Amino acid sequence: MQRRPLIAGNWKMNCLKEEAYALAKGVAEKYAACTDPECDVLVCPPAIWILPVVDAVKGRVAVGAQDAHAAKSGAHTGDVSVPMIKDAGARFVIVGHSERRADHHETDADVKAKAKAVIADGLTAVICIGETQDQRDAGKTIDVCRTQIQGSVPEEANAQNVVIAYEPVWAIGTGRTPTTKDVEEVHAAVRAEIAAKLGQKVAEEMRILYGGSVKPSNAKELMALQDVDGALVGGASLKVDDFWAIVETCL
Ligand code: PEP
Repeated sequence: MQRRPLIAGNWKMNCLKEEAYALAKGVAEKYAACTDPECDVLVCPPAIWILPVVDAVKGRVAVGAQDAHAAKSGAHTGDVSVPMIKDAGARFVIVGHSERRADHHETDADVKAKAKAVIADGLTAVICIGETQDQRDAGKTIDVCRTQIQGSVPEEANAQNVVIAYEPVWAIGTGRTPTTKDVEEVHAAVRAEIAAKLGQKVAEEMRILYGGSVKPSNAKELMALQDVDGALVGGASLKVDDFWAIVETCL
């Protein structure tokens, strides 16, 4: 089964407007200059910059949000809904990032409700899962990922409306990564759990990204692994050249 890789940049709470515009434009122009690129590219700016970033990329790469409320509208001060994100021109929404799970106490049930809202509006949810350092030390990595898949991934998920991002929490922003053997083992277990939940065909088609300190220096090795279908990139997505060097490992 040939899955088309996806390299996604999660800009987190970084960039002022001009920086966001220039970063998006730089990535989009490089992508537009490729003949028959063999991977998809997604940039996820802070919600307030989705509109200028959509303008900057001119449809050449996809734009996503970093979170969304599960409700379509209503009394939820400070939140942004999926219809708003869609209306602004974004097509993906990251849900369940470990920083949301930790900082905003989001549970698997919350993440699932958000993913359902994303799917219901015809967008694609990038559902994040991954273990903490304590869970890894206790040998619970695979159990944690399985539980998160069962709890966070909606029953209506398929390869078009959901992408999974496996991000060990201890590897995010730390410069540390699991061994390639560990990544391979977890991705295979994640795919098996998706098969158990959604069927073999969906599991074979669904993209599973790796995230956690992906950089130009380690991307090639990580992206070559069997069940790794791209990357969710934080820090290294903030510079066009670094992000592009990661994209190039999949072109
Ligand atoms: C992330 O925020 O999803 C991430 C993987 O960050 P970093 O690449 O900086 O570790």
